[in-house]
Amino acid sequence: MTYHIITIGCQMNKSDSERIAACLEDMGYRESENRNQADLVVLTTCGVRQSAEDRIYGLVPKIKKENKDVKILLTGCLSERKDVIKRLKEKIDIWLPVNQISNLKQVLIDSGFKNSEIEACDYLKIKPKYTSKFSAFVPIGNGCDNFCAYCVVPYARGREVYRDVEEILNEVESLIKKGYKEIILIAQNVNSYYSEITNYKLQITNKSQILNSKYLRFFDLLKLVNSIPGDFWVRFASSHPKDMSDDLILAILECEKVCKHIHLPAQSGDNGVLKSMNRKYKIEHYLDLIRKIKDNTKSKLPVALTTDIIVGFPGETEEQFGNTIKLFEKVKYDMAYIARYSPRYGTAAEKIKDNVGADEKKRREGELMKVLRKTALKNNQKYSGRTVKVLAEGKNKKGILFGKTETNKTVKFWGDKNFVGKFVSVNITAVEDFSLSGDLQK
Ligand code: SF4
Repeated sequence: MTYHIITIGCQMNKSDSERIAACLEDMGYRESENRNQADLVVLTTCGVRQSAEDRIYGLVPKIKKENKDVKILLTGCLSERKDVIKRLKEKIDIWLPVNQISNLKQVLIDSGFKNSEIEACDYLKIKPKYTSKFSAFVPIGNGCDNFCAYCVVPYARGREVYRDVEEILNEVESLIKKGYKEIILIAQNVNSYYSEITNYKLQITNKSQILNSKYLRFFDLLKLVNSIPGDFWVRFASSHPKDMSDDLILAILECEKVCKHIHLPAQSGDNGVLKSMNRKYKIEHYLDLIRKIKDNTKSKLPVALTTDIIVGFPGETEEQFGNTIKLFEKVKYDMAYIARYSPRYGTAAEKIKDNVGADEKKRREGELMKVLRKTALKNNQKYSGRTVKVLAEGKNKKGILFGKTETNKTVKFWGDKNFVGKFVSVNITAVEDFSLSGDLQK
């Protein structure tokens, strides 16, 4: 039996897919590169944007048409949506809610799939099948308690649960021993991470001399991961501004293996809109965090700041949108992921009239992009003539290598494909708004 997984959406979905692949292989399935030759196609779906949802509506009939005997398993954000189930019920063979991934084996057996010894396991304990040989997602938690008005995640993934620190450290240590160069700690809100302290943990924390409370928090975890020997980088996503503490800012800035890139989703620059979104912070608090990050940065290059923004949230006036423009001008982001609002099924905002027209949302997105391109270019100009450390990630179709700096800047350079998965030094000779180019240093 063979399987093929299609992942749409965020890093958390990619991590889910890696865990699903591991479970399937444990049951004796083999991966098929071609979805038309697979016995089982797994769709890890995303409901955060309408476009991601629409992709599934196009993909499912196509897969069934091209591969008549295939069974399709749908998981992710859309797996419990009543409207999606109604629309696709004839074509999907197995619906697997995200919080049931740990029961995958039982679900497959109940659906008449290949038998195997059943072992329901804790989702966060499933050993993933890593898709990269040098960069690994390491989930530290799952779920979300925040209920932002526009977001489906708390309904799809349930409430927050966090993984034991010992397990996380063991997973990271074993990845580093295998030669991994980049560890990406992921959860819906990493800043809420905690792990109760047991005697064992007390030993680790004493060794690192970092803690003196009942709980280990995310900044402690960063310090512990940072203390693991080896040449590697640590990234993390995603952060909620209401939970970002001074201790965390200092840990990010002081730990040498923690990348100097902070993704801090603002969603809007206006307090009225933030309130309607149920974001639980004011823009003054957000700007204060940015000030602390900038004031405490000691590295030669500034910490890269990126964000998520929704334009055209119900009721967003021109003046309120103007406050988001002001936010962009003040923060001077390196990158922003700008989404045009679309109502998501079952969320609180779905009940509010979506009264900003599609053309107006597009215009607002364009206005923000103009500011972003200017600030990103200006930030990138600081790299000109400098030699930076880059993790080479691959080769593009033109045969040019590409990779990322610790500030998450894409760098293009000529070199042998054997450099992929390794750290290299690149002298930056040209900059654009969203990328850098340079010469590989021998
Ligand atoms: S913090 Fe808000 S936007 Fe992020 S996952 Fe939770 S509910 Fe969704």
